[in-house]
Amino acid sequence: MALNCAKQKTYWLRCLKTFLPNGYTSMDSNRMMIACFIISALDILSALDASMTTDERSSYIEWIYASQQDTGGFQGFPRTPDANPEPNDSHSDARLTIIWEPATVPSTFFALAALLLLRDDFSRVGRRECLTWLTKCQRADCSFGQNLNDKGEVDGGYDTRFGYLAMHIRWMLGGDLLATQEPAWPDVNIDGLVRSIRALQAYDGGFGDLPCSEPHGGYTNCAVNALAIVDKLADGIPDEDALIHWLVLRQTRQFEPDNEDDEDEDEEQGGFATATTSSAIGFNGRCNKIADTCYTWWICDTLKTLGQIELIDKSKATSYLLNKTQHFIGGFGKYPSDPPDIYHSYLGLAALGILGCPDVKPVHSTTSISVDAVDYLEKVIRPGYS
Ligand SMILES: [Zn+2]
Repeated sequence: MALNCAKQKTYWLRCLKTFLPNGYTSMDSNRMMIACFIISALDILSALDASMTTDERSSYIEWIYASQQDTGGFQGFPRTPDANPEPNDSHSDARLTIIWEPATVPSTFFALAALLLLRDDFSRVGRRECLTWLTKCQRADCSFGQNLNDKGEVDGGYDTRFGYLAMHIRWMLGGDLLATQEPAWPDVNIDGLVRSIRALQAYDGGFGDLPCSEPHGGYTNCAVNALAIVDKLADGIPDEDALIHWLVLRQTRQFEPDNEDDEDEDEEQGGFATATTSSAIGFNGRCNKIADTCYTWWICDTLKTLGQIELIDKSKATSYLLNKTQHFIGGFGKYPSDPPDIYHSYLGLAALGILGCPDVKPVHSTTSISVDAVDYLEKVIRPGYS
């Protein structure tokens, strides 16, 4: 089966132009991420320009800028007067929450990426404020958190997602160029971040969220791509051979827990199945887990960054996405037969861009957006920084 481009476009246009299913209300504070995935998916499908009028493009850009904060960074959704209900007994707490929503590292990354995809020129981005705020999101141990709370303390997890996103914000805003200028702009502690990431490689090669914790495909991808964007791959991976070995072992033909047909044909090695004769193989994110669409992205993309994508069978990995988890209404499910969701649909498409599927644009390995969009950043926006 090929990528059903017409259905894929229909799925993403439905996400862009109509209300999302009510299940997404729990992600209300992450609307910037959802918006970026929708815009980027249409871009990867070469359908972005035809998906919106000039006025709509402008309104999307205004929507993003409406969530920028004066003190730097973007919050997860714009502050609008309509979002603030009148205070009363039952809503007073909700009103306080809505009025003060901190800028977050993820929302700032997704806002900047979406602006790039919409070919904004970043002229209204508060670069000095954002880069200054970013330095405050780095902890004393040099890991990054999600946001600053109202006391100015860093909130959020210690895992590699935030370091990855922070390093890409720095790169998109030219912080790496500005740090070398006189007088130098505020900059984060790169060597410290590299040290903090080095400490996360587990005994079997992958990276976990904390030292000595179980390695995970998503954290490993973020660790490797954070190092790559600051040109510190060689310094930040204590054992690259073990890492590549762990990544390659994530390929599995086990799609569902009770899939007896697959198990019959599997070659059991050390307790988990490896691909043999099947025309489709997926990837898991941890040992002894079944394949899941998003890990085709997390694992294949990490190998691409490391220059080792040819170690896996790209044809069978592509077949897993197209024949097992692509949904007939468009998008991709987490597992075969699952309905599509925005997260897995986006990472499924991005993975196809990494695997060389001819129906989608090539995707840039560390950012997950199209190579086209990254070219625009590097050839049009970043030259203006230096
Ligand atoms: Zn998943």
